[in-house]
Amino acid sequence: MAGVAAPASGGFTTRFAPSPTGPLHLGHAYSALLAHDMARAAGGRFLVRMEDTDTERSKYAWEAQILDDLAWLGLTWDGPVHRQSDHIAEYTARLEPLVARGLLYPCACSRSDIRAALAAPQEGSIHPFYPGTCRHRPIESRQPGDALRINLAAALAQLPPGIGFAETGAAHAGQHILNPAEAISRIGDVVLSRKGEEIVAYFLASALDDADHGVTHVIRGEDLFDFTPVQVILQHLLGLPTPTYHHHRLIRDDQGKRLAKRDDARALAKYRAEGATPQDIRALVGL
Ligand code: GLU
Repeated sequence: MAGVAAPASGGFTTRFAPSPTGPLHLGHAYSALLAHDMARAAGGRFLVRMEDTDTERSKYAWEAQILDDLAWLGLTWDGPVHRQSDHIAEYTARLEPLVARGLLYPCACSRSDIRAALAAPQEGSIHPFYPGTCRHRPIESRQPGDALRINLAAALAQLPPGIGFAETGAAHAGQHILNPAEAISRIGDVVLSRKGEEIVAYFLASALDDADHGVTHVIRGEDLFDFTPVQVILQHLLGLPTPTYHHHRLIRDDQGKRLAKRDDARALAKYRAEGATPQDIRALVGL
């Protein structure tokens, strides 16, 4: 893929991959600083990519603000910033092997259809968990506007047993072997592209970019740990390597709630306006 070139040798490569849907807050700052510091300590590469496939919520103004905040923090990144929305057609084309393997089906269900079809919310699953309403539909029946979902049970049946990933983050450190029954009941048939072919899922774009850019270590917040099996499954189906994962602790507010983009009170811009230094930010996030 154009833009960020994979390294010639297999050196340590990590990335910070924000979605430009709001200001950078302390939690993002921690994630970016940690990934950057780990890359520099290993003599490796630190990449930045904008996960802006949600074109309705992503804004160039946020992207500019995020890059400005990162530079202010003192971070330098290797190569140009990769913007996912510039590569939608390439991501969509990469779904072809999954179509050929009979693993994708079109789906016209809305979120409310999905909620209505569920007897009760599924504890610990990716919400809203998809009950499989359109699983019987052949790919040829795709209408403009239909999403494409992966038939996860069929996909796992095509993969060898024992696939998994290595994790170095403190909360889940160790080797994780996927349990197919658990993946099917907790993850289900996730969407890989929606709105015709205009929007590709984060799972897909992120797995492809990590592989194409030679990412050896995915360093990100613990809130994404539960999504990792989806990416590992896609890596195996698409013949991509599986990086090492490092899910770090989340920065929480005074009430113990994790910070979200809407928590403007914790926006880096606010600390900057109040005269904080990059060292103050490092201290605030415990680095
Ligand atoms: N774009 C995601 C976010 O902003 C991060 C995804 C990742 O690091 O894999 O939370």
